Amino acid sequence: MAKINILPPHIYNRISAGEVVDRPYSVVKELVENAIDAGATEISIYIECGGKQLIRVVDNGCGIEREDLPSAYLPHATSKISTADDLEGVMTLGFRGEAIASISAVSQMTITSKTATGKCYKLSCDGGTLGQVIEATGIGEHGTDVCVENLFYHTPVRLGYLRTDKGEETEITTFVSRFILNRADIAFTYYVDEKRVLQSYGEGQEDAMLCVYGNEIFNNCFQIDAQKHGIHVYGYIGNTNFSKPNKSYQCVFLNGRHIVNTTISSAISGAYMSYLMKRQYPFYVLHIDMPPESFDVNVHPNKADVRLMDNKLVYGCIYSIISGILDGKAQALEYIVQMPKTAQEQAYTAPIAEEAASVKLPEFEPSLTYEQARKIFEADSPKLAPKKQVMELPFEEVEEEIQEKKKGFIPIDQIGPYIPNPSTTPPKAKIGKTSGAEILQKKFPDLYFESPIIKFRDPESEKEKKEETIDSFEANKKYLAELDEKSKQNRIEVTDCTYAGKLFNTYLLYEQGDCVYIIDQHAAHERLIFNRLKEQMEKRVVVRQPMLLPYSLKLNAFESAFIRENLSVVRDMGFVIDEPTENEFAVSEIPLDLQNINLNAFFNEILGDISGYRAIKLENILKDKLASTACKAAVKGGMNLTKEEVSALFALMDGDMGLKCPHGRPVVVKLTKTELEKMFKRIV
Ligand code: ADP
Ligand code: MG
Repeated sequence: MAKINILPPHIYNRISAGEVVDRPYSVVKELVENAIDAGATEISIYIECGGKQLIRVVDNGCGIEREDLPSAYLPHATSKISTADDLEGVMTLGFRGEAIASISAVSQMTITSKTATGKCYKLSCDGGTLGQVIEATGIGEHGTDVCVENLFYHTPVRLGYLRTDKGEETEITTFVSRFILNRADIAFTYYVDEKRVLQSYGEGQEDAMLCVYGNEIFNNCFQIDAQKHGIHVYGYIGNTNFSKPNKSYQCVFLNGRHIVNTTISSAISGAYMSYLMKRQYPFYVLHIDMPPESFDVNVHPNKADVRLMDNKLVYGCIYSIISGILDGKAQALEYIVQMPKTAQEQAYTAPIAEEAASVKLPEFEPSLTYEQARKIFEADSPKLAPKKQVMELPFEEVEEEIQEKKKGFIPIDQIGPYIPNPSTTPPKAKIGKTSGAEILQKKFPDLYFESPIIKFRDPESEKEKKEETIDSFEANKKYLAELDEKSKQNRIEVTDCTYAGKLFNTYLLYEQGDCVYIIDQHAAHERLIFNRLKEQMEKRVVVRQPMLLPYSLKLNAFESAFIRENLSVVRDMGFVIDEPTENEFAVSEIPLDLQNINLNAFFNEILGDISGYRAIKLENILKDKLASTACKAAVKGGMNLTKEEVSALFALMDGDMGLKCPHGRPVVVKLTKTELEKMFKRIV
């Protein structure tokens, strides 16, 4: 076997760089975290070419002393901890002393820094090779300017894995937005390719929200500030009419750290469940503060998950706070409880005693403590409160799980083959007699979720599901082509038809020889609109309707990247759409046939579940949406059409009796005289 070599630092830094910095956004994250750790109150971030060419973070923090400049580049060099004991109480975002060493190993990096008492110095490092410390200028009283150029320039494989500049930029913008929301006390400025994209002033949460989401957000949100069991929840949650088509509008910060945690996100989704339609997601920017010992931060720098000591408690608290507000049982700000920090921490260690005192839910005022209720609950119906199982579900799945929960208990046979212990089968809902357990369930919704009604992941069925969605577009296309073919054979001579009246203001009757055609006026109109739109779209001659006032489509970075990538398709469809600012699009003309649609809902639908669309062309999605839009724009069944309108509609059909509506329902049903006579037993 070969001799074991001790790798020189510039090699192992390059290897470990992959772990800490895998993409430009992780460099931004590390540098901004360093600036925050340095106590900065103003941070400017500059990126160029999606961060591949330049990432620069300038702060007004404490700065680095001249003699410390070289050590900053060394692996495991940190000023934030010095002994193993310090690890227990780490308050800073970084402490591993890896970031600068790793980033400088795969880029050209220059740190310029000045402390309040020292001079300004700079030190560069090229692909892991350190230069000399030299005197410099450019920093005000104190602070640091870290400039990273040509990231991954000598690791071409990694460079090859990066997304397009726009793709990387979107990711960075998402991160910067999160920093702004998280640290509303810091003034951030963010420049993309020399253009200022975001600016906050460090003047609190309202200012941060304004910066990231614009003024309108306040019309659609509750501001909340609540305490329960020593857990402090504050921030903004969207009202029930303000749903979003994807999850990119959800942010949770736990003790100042952005996290993604299934218990927390499912508690929030659970509270919104009865208000939001399928594929609609709540908006929230929530800060949660808990005593540090009540959760475990995953120390890996790139992981956002945390492990909660008591999932149930956190779930219950968050669920009841948010549902209390949404259900109108509590005003958002009614929750505000001025609780000094120490009392808050005590409350956590003794949540039972504090339970009643810390909640202000008028109709919810519990007479029992959580623990007492739980005991009665279990005694009354042990099956309803089986042993808690620790389950880690991938983030995306949680929403589905909650959907299932809301439907009621799921019988065991539907849970799937992976359920580990059949004795924990939740019972079916009882009808009639209300048990004590059920009363308690109502009073303590937290307990209601004790049952492990969780479907286990089945990768096979998931794969199928994915394929299904992709295939449905294919199937649709094939189906429409077949229909086109069939309809050609179903053509009749319009002039031979006579109008014979209508039924229920919905079905138009046309007689021709020995047949009667029954036409569904809604389906017919729908199909005709669809046909016209499709044809115009294919020929790129969509008739447009200018809007009185341009519609402003405000998106987040993630969504706007998607629209930007697909602008030509949206334009071909007949929308005149411009991009006055980064994340805002102005729609000034729309296809004439869609003039009555709700643009908001239309774009929301298109943007829904973008990630699920990756494999599908936007064009197909739009065609699909076109069908549903045509449906909304079409005359409805039950609408009393005038004779002229009926004739116009029929003329448009141009004798095509094989028509189906874009959803596949028939437009025309043909009844022959013989069939009628058979019904009346005139003939057998
Ligand atoms: P860590 O943040 O884990 O300590 P880094 O590699 O990110 O490790 O940084 C190494 C050290 O460089 C830090 O501990 C800190 O002393 C110093 N440093 C880095 N960035 C800054 C900054 N913006 N302001 C002041 N000091 C900094
Ligand atoms: Mg750091």
